[in-house]
Amino acid sequence: MGLFDGLRTQNHFASLGSAFYTRLAPQGLTNPTLLHVNPAVAKKLGLQATQIQSESFLRIMSGNEPLPGGDTLAAVYSGHQFGHWAGQLGDGRAHLLGAIQTEHEVLELQLKGSGLTPYSRMGDGRAVLRSSLREYLASHAMQNLGIPTTEALAIVMSEDPVYRETKETATIVCRVAPSFVRFGSFEHWFNHPKQLRQLLHYVVDYFYPECGTPGLTPDAELALALLREIVRRSAQMVAHWQTVGFCHGVMNTDNMSVLGLTMDYGPYAFMDAFAIDYICNTTDSGGRYAWYKQPSIVHWNLARLASCFLDLCTESQLQEVLGHFESDYVAQYTHNMQQKLGWDQWQAQDHHLTNDWWQLLHDHQADFSLSFRALSLVFEQPDSWLALFGHSEAAQQWLARYQQRSALNQHSPQQRQEQMDQHNPLYVLRNHLAQQVIQAVQQGDIEPLARLFFVLENPYDWHEGYDDLALPPTPDQSVPALSCSS
Ligand code: AMP
Ligand code: MG
Ligand code: MG
Repeated sequence: MGLFDGLRTQNHFASLGSAFYTRLAPQGLTNPTLLHVNPAVAKKLGLQATQIQSESFLRIMSGNEPLPGGDTLAAVYSGHQFGHWAGQLGDGRAHLLGAIQTEHEVLELQLKGSGLTPYSRMGDGRAVLRSSLREYLASHAMQNLGIPTTEALAIVMSEDPVYRETKETATIVCRVAPSFVRFGSFEHWFNHPKQLRQLLHYVVDYFYPECGTPGLTPDAELALALLREIVRRSAQMVAHWQTVGFCHGVMNTDNMSVLGLTMDYGPYAFMDAFAIDYICNTTDSGGRYAWYKQPSIVHWNLARLASCFLDLCTESQLQEVLGHFESDYVAQYTHNMQQKLGWDQWQAQDHHLTNDWWQLLHDHQADFSLSFRALSLVFEQPDSWLALFGHSEAAQQWLARYQQRSALNQHSPQQRQEQMDQHNPLYVLRNHLAQQVIQAVQQGDIEPLARLFFVLENPYDWHEGYDDLALPPTPDQSVPALSCSS
């Protein structure tokens, strides 16, 4: 009787056939150590403490042993990178281990940093500790902010050398999601009707059954219904990003999930000082993926996805579906802003006050998260909010309008404050906090990782003894942007 016999494992992605992937074993890490396991993800997968603490688990997570009942493979995809067609890409350093049937869904396990594949191109198949920790923490942070995301089960370290700007060490993160199919997975089959249809059927069958029945529903109808849902989910995803100050940094079509999940965490940032045109990725010199452009980039990416269906649907049908993006986006955005600003409903003219809000933050380079957070007590304690804006005349004027608007609320001041505190996180995964954790782990100290992980689990509630993790960086702590190197 094997330790993992109780798990119901499989790999339904493998049923697509070998054109969609290459079966191959990972290159396991030497002498791996388990740095951290996400208990909530482990629980969701039905993993028991005895399993997680086993040598077998470490061997699976470090790429040294297959997932029992799985079918290890690297998937192929293509994509547009920074607006240009990049041709074939694929899992250049990731291995899909298989999927586990949980109580509510089927979740795939994928190792990232697990060695060379036929899609590695010039890369070495590895991921370094710092970028793996950032992915691991971001998955956790986003999940607990209620933002759709891939998750991460575990992070495993080693002393295996990896060469970037300096010598670093190889690390593997085990990512978890119902699927890792990307817009680029469809783009790979542009002008290949047979495989495109196969992928369409697969995605509808497993993830969007409400879109129709492959084989019965005409393919054009399936494609339009699927696109409609992906438009909706992607619009909602990016609206959440905007309202929490998240910048992805590498919004290429190969990093866009067809499930509307935030994925492929690289040089992302949760903004500190707000700037409308903030760019988190130093490689993005043109600012294609600046904060204010993120919604329109998602729309552009959706148009690339839609174009794959030109053999099945007419251009005007696809355009019609893409045309829903803006209203889907605005619906989620206004919902979030209404919650965050403490109003019990959204009124059409609220756009004026919220647009002026962004302008105010921008003009004062005010801290994104604290500006929202301190607003919940602004009528009782105006000074702590005003201080974020240097007590400026502009801030006083905006506040007066905000007070007038908030007086229209039907709910009580108490309800208003509770609503705001449940929608404006006190703790966000600021770059400098991730940096402190990375440096500590590199020196063998995992306490800062445990502390940060703890507050990110419930980012809305104040925790005694963790005030340092709610603060913006001091000038010498600040990490304004990162490169793609990972
Ligand atoms: P990204 O911009 O991180 O999404 O990466 C784009 C493509 O490059 C993906 O297909 C990755 O699998 C691949 N890639 C990134 N880093 C590496 C690496 N170190 N080794 C092999 N492939 C990589
Ligand atoms: Mg990627
Ligand atoms: Mg990446």
